[in-house]
This record gives sequence, C-alpha cells and structure tokens, in this order.
Amino acid sequence: MTRKIFTGIISVAVLVMCLCSAFLIGILYEYFGNIVSAELKNEAYFISKGISAEGDEYLNEITDFRNRITVINTDGSVFYDSSGDAQSMDNHSLREEVKEAFATGEGSSSRYSDTLGTRNLYYALKMDDGRVLRVSGKVNSVWSLVLGVLQPMTVVLVLAIIAAGLLSSAIAKHILRPVNSIDLNNPELDEPYEELAPLLKKIRVQNSRIKSQMHELKRKQTEFSIITENMSEGFLIIDDKTEILSYNSAALRLLGVSAEDAAKSRSVLAINRSESFRTAVELALDGKHNEQPMSIGESCSHIVSNPVFHDGNVTGVIIIILDVTEKEQREQLRREFTSNVSHELKTPLTTIYGISDMLAGGIVKADDVKGFSETIRSEASRMITLIDDIIKLSRLDENGSGIEKCDVDIFETAKAVAGRLAHTAEKAGVSVSVKGESCFVYGAPAILEEMIYNLTENAIKYNCENGKVIITAEAVNGRPVVIVEDTGIGIPDEAQKRVFERFYRVDKSHSRRIGGTGLGLSIVKHAAAFHNADLKLESKVNVGTKITVAF
Ligand code: ADP
Repeated sequence: MTRKIFTGIISVAVLVMCLCSAFLIGILYEYFGNIVSAELKNEAYFISKGISAEGDEYLNEITDFRNRITVINTDGSVFYDSSGDAQSMDNHSLREEVKEAFATGEGSSSRYSDTLGTRNLYYALKMDDGRVLRVSGKVNSVWSLVLGVLQPMTVVLVLAIIAAGLLSSAIAKHILRPVNSIDLNNPELDEPYEELAPLLKKIRVQNSRIKSQMHELKRKQTEFSIITENMSEGFLIIDDKTEILSYNSAALRLLGVSAEDAAKSRSVLAINRSESFRTAVELALDGKHNEQPMSIGESCSHIVSNPVFHDGNVTGVIIIILDVTEKEQREQLRREFTSNVSHELKTPLTTIYGISDMLAGGIVKADDVKGFSETIRSEASRMITLIDDIIKLSRLDENGSGIEKCDVDIFETAKAVAGRLAHTAEKAGVSVSVKGESCFVYGAPAILEEMIYNLTENAIKYNCENGKVIITAEAVNGRPVVIVEDTGIGIPDEAQKRVFERFYRVDKSHSRRIGGTGLGLSIVKHAAAFHNADLKLESKVNVGTKITVAF
C-alpha cells in the first residue's frame, strides 16, 4: 500500500512539474523573444539616427556588438556587417525582413539555427538614404531553456521523491491503522471506513460459511477416525507416490511400527520392506487389486490392496491388513492335532490288528490267548479313553455351548474325586487327602469334576512310592481356589510351558505305559478358560508339582 501511495504521489508530482515547466518554458520563450525584438527595434532606430547624423563613420564608433548590425545597399549587396567581411556576403535583397523593409520601411523575421540550437531575430529598418539597416540578435531555443531548468528540476524532483516517501508512509500508516485493527473473526464490531462495508459483509458471510464447513469436516473426520480406529483390521491410504495419507493404529500395530516412525517415513515402503508388502503396493499402483500373505515376527497378516482411480488414472491405494495369526495358529494346531490323533490311534490299532491276525491265523497257543485278549482289551480301552478325551476337548473347543451351569461346591467335588481315585492311589502307593472348606463356584459340575480329576490323577500317576497328594479347595481372598499338589517326579523347567499343549508329554513312553493320553492338562486348560479361571503351575524335579486353579 505504501508503495502504491508513493508511486501515486510521485507520479502526480512529476506530472505537475513537467506541465508547469512546459508552461513556464513557453511563457519565458515568448517573453525573451519579445524583449529581444524590442531591443533590436530600439537599437536599429538609434543606429539609423546616428548614421543619418554622422554618416557611415558612425558605424566605426560602435564597439559594443551585442547584436549583429548589417547595412544593406539598395541593390541588396551588403555594405557593412559587424560580424564579418561585408564584401564576401551574398546579396540580402531576398531576405524576408530586408525585402519587407525595402517595401514597407521596416521588417522583421526569425530563423532557427539547428547547429547552434538558437533562434535568430532580425529587425530591418529602411534608412533615410534608402538603404536598410538590419539588427539581429539571438534568443535561446526551447531546448536551451529546457536544459537550463533541468538542474533545478532535478533538485525539486529529488526533494519531491523524499517528500513523497515520507508522506506516503505516513498516509499509508494512517489509512491502514484502523484497517489492521479490524477483527476478521468479528468484522461487524469494526467498520472504520464505510467504503469497506461491502467487503466486511462478504467476510462475515464467508466466515460463517467456513465455520459451518469446518464443523462438517470435523464431524466427518471424527466419524472416519472412530470407524478406522475401532477396526481391528489395519487401514492405510497412500497416494500414487506411495506417500502415506492416512492410517489407523491397527495398521501400525500389525506392521510393527511406531506412530513416530510412520510420521517420519514419507513412503509407505519405508515402514515395511517385506517383499509381499512391496508387491501389494506396486500391483495396486499398476491398477490391480491383489491379496498377499505376510508375516512379521510371529504374527501372520493378509494384505488386501486396492487401487483408487480418478479419471481413469490410479491416484492412490487403499491397503487393508488383516491379522490372521490366530487363524493360522488354529490351522496349525488343527493339523498337529489330526496328525497326533492319527498317530495315537495307530499304535493301539496296529497292536490289535497284529494280535487278531495271529489269532485268525491260528498260530497262537491256547495258553497265550488270554494274555493276547488282555492286550487287545487294554489297547481298546486306551483308544476309548483317548476318544473320550478328544470328545471332551472338542466340546470345550465349542465354548461349551449348551452346557448347563450352576453353583458347585468345589470342596465336595474334590472329595468325590479323591474317593473315585482312592483305588488308583492305593495301587500306586500314594496317599490322597482333601483340605479346605465348602466353597462355591458358578460353573459346569461335570467339567469342574473332570478338571480336578485330571489334576489329581496326574498327581498320583507322576508320584513316587509312598508319595502324597493334597487337594485343597477353599476361598482365598474371596476367590475360590483349587490346589492340587504332589510330592512326585516334578516337571522340568523347559517343559513347564508346554505341558498344557495337546499330546505333549515330558516322557512319552512313561506316560503311555501308565495310560496317559497327553490330553489331560489340555482339558484342564480349556476347562479353566471355560470358567474364566487362572492356572498356575509350580514344579520342581524330584520335589513335586503344585497346580493352582483360581476362579
Ligand atoms: P498325560 O495323559 O500324559 O498325563 P497330561 O496332559 O495330563 O497328559 O500331562 C502332560 C504331561 O505333563 C504328562 O505326560 C507328564 O509328563 C506331565 N505331568 C502332568 N502332571 C504332572 C505331575 N503332577 N507331575 C509330573 N509331571 C506331570
């Protein structure tokens, strides 16, 4: 604004100065011309009088030649010229002023000298003797006058520029102060100039439009982030240069990157450099929908990438990352389980098949038939136990749907289990005791009994001669707890994490010999989960094992 005001002021100043100067030069030019003309006329008059009185000798008396004096004979030849040799001069009869003087008694004219840049004024007077006396003088040309005023004009111009600078800055400040103090958020409160009223009205309207648009945008953004943040699937939007435009926290979790790293990375390819992720991004940027499996550490993901088209061109990519770790693990467990079951069933079946083959072939002695029949019975019973355990597990796998729940006194259940296993314990030379007090758990009676049974049976099976098993059922800090502890062989540290896995046994042959299926603790784990109970295993080799179930 200051610059505009400055330019305005200086333009007006220069224009005014130029016009004034031109006007002044015109007046001066005319004025000086008139003065010189009058001077020439006077001088001619006095010289002619002098010549009339004293004759041509008078011309010799004139020493001050400010103007050129010429005497022209009646035939036009130059008789005398103060500025040069009169004899060598051309005939002057045709000169305008001379011609006029011969005709009318006096004449005048003016001529420019381009080379000298001056204007010559001539005045001719017919003397009494018929000759013509001509006096000529110089007047400065317009350009000389212009050159003459150039210097003062330059000084004035510089002063005008300084004054314009100061003035424009002061004016701009003065004009802008109230404009700058306008609160653009509430322009209706100030209206320094009425000329600004339409603009302020427009700002008011725009403000309210922007406010409502911002509100709408915020609402949509919140809606979008609520949806994406509550998605368990990872969600990423990138542009056609792989720059990240948007993401949710699930995406960062699944890709294993922090929010800071994601904010720092310009390209999505910098946050995950795996082959499958790169392929997913590149194929989508080529306009192809595609799905890729990807694993990061122990987790497995499934990437779905979709190109975003605009006017037929790919302008970005939407990437969805699905966490399939659990599904993969379940798939793996299912494969392992199938192979384990087949293996576990194959052993007794092979034995039964072998014996029945021998019996059918009649190669078994009558005395051995009883022994072989016993083996078939025990192998068949092992298979029934195994299948029973598998059925129990699969029921628990289905989240125990349809299983009735009620208040169960776990102390009574523990006593019942101890009774059922009394014979087994006696055979193994192990004493079983039950401690605690009546304590209720809201659960499935059969599953609770199965759980305590499995723990107690293990405590007997993996015990030593004259060993002890103590079952405690009571409330600890208001929480119903069942503890089964024994003084048996214990579980090595490295196996403690795995004993709850299906078919895992510390000593496979020992477990099989004593009729174990490898599913007992797995059933306990599922039963505990079904009752939302915590399991805790403490064990020391050759000291004993303590398993706590806290409901
Ligand atoms: P199993 O049918 O073989 O007993 P479980 O799932 O009940 O299968 O137990 C898994 C393994 O954990 C057993 O094979 C055994 O090696 C170990 N185990 C379980 N309970 C005990 C215990 N109380 N003392 C020592 N080892 C145990």
